Amino acid sequence: MAAKRKKPRRKSAAKHGRVDWNTYFMNIAREVASRSTCDRKHVGAVIVREKTILSTGYNGSIKGMPHCDEAGHMMEDGHCVATIHAEANAVIQAAKNGVRIDGGEIYVTASPCWNCFKMIANAGIRAIYYGEFYRDERIFSVARKLGIRLTQIPIKKPD
Ligand SMILES: [Zn+2]
Ligand SMILES: [Zn+2]
Repeated sequence: MAAKRKKPRRKSAAKHGRVDWNTYFMNIAREVASRSTCDRKHVGAVIVREKTILSTGYNGSIKGMPHCDEAGHMMEDGHCVATIHAEANAVIQAAKNGVRIDGGEIYVTASPCWNCFKMIANAGIRAIYYGEFYRDERIFSVARKLGIRLTQIPIKKPD
């Protein structure tokens, strides 16, 4: 005989403090960003498929090279080029571990720069969720052409 289970009391999701999936993954991306080693901008990325995290990345120096926070930035045309961007590191992490990301989605705290956008597109990622807008407007028209969903998810600060 099946054990009797008490019916859960209905509570609204908000009252429960249970976040929706988009907020959940964006919050994780924000947490990932806190590992960034370039204080010009802390960015975090999470690659997901079917609500499962496949890979994460934050912007930081080449492995074995000093962090910007210790050695200073490597400035070129007003940007720090010492670091590998969060989205790139998430794709690299997947490649290193042999994780398939084709058909996945990416959550990133700032919208991808042009180079990262190109890489995301060719990695077969079908949707990009970003927190704040960062730098490159070209991604909007090209994403539309490619059928990649590009959606802003404003980052919610915890209450
Ligand atoms: Zn830097
Ligand atoms: Zn980038």
